[in-house]
Amino acid sequence: MIECIFTIDYEIYGNGEGSLKELVYEPAERLRTIFRKWNARFVAFVEVAELEMIEAKCTDSAIDLIKCQIRDFHKEGFELGLHLHPWWYNARHKNGGWIPDYSEYNLCTLPMGRIVQIIDRSIAYLRRVLGLVNFMPLSYRAGHLLFQPTRTVANVLAERGVKIDSSVYKGGLWHHYHLDYRRALKNGYFWKFTDDVNEPDLQGILLEIPIHTQMVPTQKMFTTKRIGLQHKGSSTTQTGKKMLNRVKDFLRFRYPLKFDLCQMSLKELIGIVDEVFLEDQQNPTLFRPIVAIGHTKDLVDFETLKLFLSYLEKKRIPLSTFQSVYPRCIF
Ligand SMILES: [Zn+2]
Repeated sequence: MIECIFTIDYEIYGNGEGSLKELVYEPAERLRTIFRKWNARFVAFVEVAELEMIEAKCTDSAIDLIKCQIRDFHKEGFELGLHLHPWWYNARHKNGGWIPDYSEYNLCTLPMGRIVQIIDRSIAYLRRVLGLVNFMPLSYRAGHLLFQPTRTVANVLAERGVKIDSSVYKGGLWHHYHLDYRRALKNGYFWKFTDDVNEPDLQGILLEIPIHTQMVPTQKMFTTKRIGLQHKGSSTTQTGKKMLNRVKDFLRFRYPLKFDLCQMSLKELIGIVDEVFLEDQQNPTLFRPIVAIGHTKDLVDFETLKLFLSYLEKKRIPLSTFQSVYPRCIF
């Protein structure tokens, strides 16, 4: 039994470049129209730190459109997840650009007090935007998918009422930030965890439904589409050490290809689904929610997306949300 959850990270470029209208509002609007036509819903992972800072410094007049769009999503049954780029909160705006505070890049490595402050602030902003004092997102996605070391952030999120994380991509390895999701390769389609997001724990306080990946020979990573999109949003601060670490990340025979709606070709998207479909035929009673990721800033190829949605329909694979699959994942 397969269901596909479409998640979209709702944000401008991580280094603060780009406009809200062009990189967030307009692509999200087109996506909403397509999903409405299919009578389906997606999960928008709203990166709240940048929105709060952009609003506070009045640096982008499209912020009101964005807030209105978020409210509309909520009203129309699109799911809102919490996404956090913590490097925004101490960012400074100077000479027309943003200077992010990269010392706060990985929320998980910050002191407990700072983690609490940032998470509470982000939820409070989302509540203000929605005008709902009790709103609590069901799901969370870490900035740059960094959810290690896990324990403190997992506890703070669970105490607030968040139930699901979707930051893991099985097989992921990123030396520079000490991210290692290779041990999650042995896990199923979802699992509970507390201390380490890689380690299933039956009594776990959060549920992980990872971004789906497929392990492929490393050279397959370098398609024209993927490289073009990555180049567009590349950060300008690549230090020598960071680059060397990135090279180390790719020195593997097989590499996890993320189920990415924006970066994959139609052939790759279909290949991912067909692989799960074959597994499912062996054991159709097992529940297989598969999470796809995308970014509003990368949403340019709507034709591929529409063809892929038709393919899912042909295969009778429903489009779902975390809200809808959650009751079937807890045990
Ligand atoms: Zn992000």
